[in-house]
Amino acid sequence: MATNMKRGGPLKRKTALKSTKPMPRQSAKRRAYLASPERAAGKAHMERVAQLPCFVCGCYGVEVHHIPDPRSDMRVMPLCPRHHRREYGVGAFHYSKRAFYALHGSPEFLLAWVDAQLVNDTGF
Ligand SMILES: [Zn+2]
Ligand SMILES: [Zn+2]
Repeated sequence: MATNMKRGGPLKRKTALKSTKPMPRQSAKRRAYLASPERAAGKAHMERVAQLPCFVCGCYGVEVHHIPDPRSDMRVMPLCPRHHRREYGVGAFHYSKRAFYALHGSPEFLLAWVDAQLVNDTGF
């Protein structure tokens, strides 16, 4: 399984995720959002997308990229660092998003691709 390849290393302690870090100050609106079902659904969606292979090259160990306008945790796609981060140069989304969209399709096309991948993955 490729699930250990993301987020650096096999040590996964879910229990350590909460409560040790000081929380930044948040607005009431932000707090309400974080407690909302919408936020929970977005988080679950992002975790599923993180299990998918890179949209461009199909390798595992992806980062979850947000497609803006509007920004939403439901509008994300899987990209490996090579195809995501600016420092990797030509071919990376953040190097030139215009080139990326020209080569691979519109944001809505990319999101539809992600949806299709998740439908095929029946382990929801
Ligand atoms: Zn890739
Ligand atoms: Zn990104």
